[in-house]
Amino acid sequence: MQTRVIATADPECPRLAAKLLTAGDLVALPTETVYGLGANGLDPEAVAKIFVAKGRPNDNPLILHVADISQIQTLCHSIPESAYRLAEAFWPGPLTMVLPARDIIPKRTTGGLSTVAVRCPDNAVTREIIRLAGVPIAAPSANLSGKPSTTTAEHVLHDHNGKLPLIVDGGPCRVGVESTIIDLTEDPPRLLRPGGITPEQLTQVLGSITVDKAVTAQICGDAVVKAPGMKYRHYAPQCQVLIINGSREAAARYIRSQYTPGDRVLCFEEELPLFEGCDPLPYGSEADPYTLSAGLFAALRQLDDPSVRRVFARCPQGGGIAYAVQNRLGKAAAFQILDAEAFV
Ligand code: AMP
Ligand code: MG
Repeated sequence: MQTRVIATADPECPRLAAKLLTAGDLVALPTETVYGLGANGLDPEAVAKIFVAKGRPNDNPLILHVADISQIQTLCHSIPESAYRLAEAFWPGPLTMVLPARDIIPKRTTGGLSTVAVRCPDNAVTREIIRLAGVPIAAPSANLSGKPSTTTAEHVLHDHNGKLPLIVDGGPCRVGVESTIIDLTEDPPRLLRPGGITPEQLTQVLGSITVDKAVTAQICGDAVVKAPGMKYRHYAPQCQVLIINGSREAAARYIRSQYTPGDRVLCFEEELPLFEGCDPLPYGSEADPYTLSAGLFAALRQLDDPSVRRVFARCPQGGGIAYAVQNRLGKAAAFQILDAEAFV
């Protein structure tokens, strides 16, 4: 199959993408978080193609993307009033809500669960495509399962060239990490995955929330978890990744003492001079954590190369978007975190 890349600016784009989606084909779509591998979320055969293309485990459910809030009543029931307040505050945007699923949603989409995850993405052309298709679009991150997510159309082409008819190119993703997931079927709501909408923003609308333990620690393969995706190895380049915390100076001293050729250092732009000679790869500025979330996956994909022996990674501290970066880097490192201050 020939894979065509079409720019969002191309006037033909929305109609062509929507036509393919309604015919049961896969179309990769840009969003503000990452590129999604889209299919008609109500068509089990179309959805099955996503699992095949990604090599995704069958029990890992998909997020349904909607054009606007009115669409969720057809997909979910027992919707709490808090869902509407969240949508008012953060949609379109990087927030996914887990709600009780109506029967029209195939089990293939929900991974067999009685709940469904829904989100309205902040890309006007993608929303127009969903509106024209007239169905919710299931769209997990367009990477191969387990690999770092796709934040450009080139990433999608690299992973799926010849496996789908169309990739919609909307340029690099602004947020760069997947959506925040909040489970509204629990009281208080439970944060299942941190992302562009921060815990602080959620608390402002919801009052209190709880944080699932999979957000900050490794889950064993056979554990029963609320969001099945949380138990799989994720976002990882093929080599070992080690997070090195501590002050710039302590981290540089530790990494330089351990460095051998073939290792790489994933660091902040501000730290480049400290890691001269250690093959550093900056992924953004520590002073502006949004550049770190936007640059993380492109950098992890670059490090996913057999020539890389081991990665020492620097991770931003604190809340806000840095919390999402900690979660993704933590998963890429299987939560192997070392405090360099202990070695001073
Ligand atoms: P992605 O593959 O990046 O699109 O992530 C989708 C993730 O959303 C999955 O890995 C699940 O962890 C989560 N998810 C989707 N549907 C549900 C659901 N019904 N309940 C809990 N988590 C869900
Ligand atoms: Mg994913």
